[in-house]
Amino acid sequence: MQVWHTAGEWMDRRRAIGADSIGLVPTMGALHRGHAALVERCRRENEVAVASIFVNPAQFNDPRDLSRYPRTLEKDLALLEDLAVDDVFVPNAAELYPRGYAFRVEAARETKVMEAVHRPGFLEGVMTVVLKLLNLIRPGRAYFGEKDFQQLKTVREMAEDFFVPTEIVACPTVRGSSGLAESSRNALLSNAARQKAAVLFRALTTAPSPQEARTMIEQQGFAVDYVEEHWGRRFAAAFLDGVRLIDNVPLS
Ligand code: AMP
Repeated sequence: MQVWHTAGEWMDRRRAIGADSIGLVPTMGALHRGHAALVERCRRENEVAVASIFVNPAQFNDPRDLSRYPRTLEKDLALLEDLAVDDVFVPNAAELYPRGYAFRVEAARETKVMEAVHRPGFLEGVMTVVLKLLNLIRPGRAYFGEKDFQQLKTVREMAEDFFVPTEIVACPTVRGSSGLAESSRNALLSNAARQKAAVLFRALTTAPSPQEARTMIEQQGFAVDYVEEHWGRRFAAAFLDGVRLIDNVPLS
């Protein structure tokens, strides 16, 4: 496995790969079983499997959330090596944003719901960094989790509208035995909070209405951002002990 830190180094490597099929899994690191599932699928479906690790400042609307985002690079690289990844791209912010946040992808006709309302600038930050990564890595396929369904949908539509020749592949949400979706932010929760957090999945799947799901989640001590239904799915975002968790499930 080779680790690349600059766009220049990676572009030399990209020329050497040539026409082989490339799969990309973009991540912000602090890798867990959810990321591993994406990487395993990427490994199976492509000749060259690439992962990226970059905590993207542009998508954080809260500086405290950015500064305390978990960073576990050595462990992440060991996991990616075990999963037989060929290349890991680990740029710093100056590599990806040489002029700062000078140019950005904005949704002009964005449906202003959920993350777009509660995290101003988040989807623009995600689309901008993903477009940069797709242009640099030039993968045939890029893998995204349904855990972040609104992000997946927005990235897919953006890639289609800009005629990016990369297939956006959706991967199902990986959960623990309690139903709690795997998330890098779970590492910031105490054991007690992690047990309480299972209510998110329980409420999404069992409550008769979004309002009742909200009440169930609040009863566990969460401050709820939203519980809403869109695109045949039910979504929730809520804070527990200052940590923001999101989840969604298909409506049956
Ligand atoms: P992140 O590092 O949080 O930016 O996530 C990188 C990718 O992994 C995104 O496409 C996420 O949707 C995906 N992902 C994160 N958690 C999970 C999970 N529990 N199951 C499936 N995919 C996930």
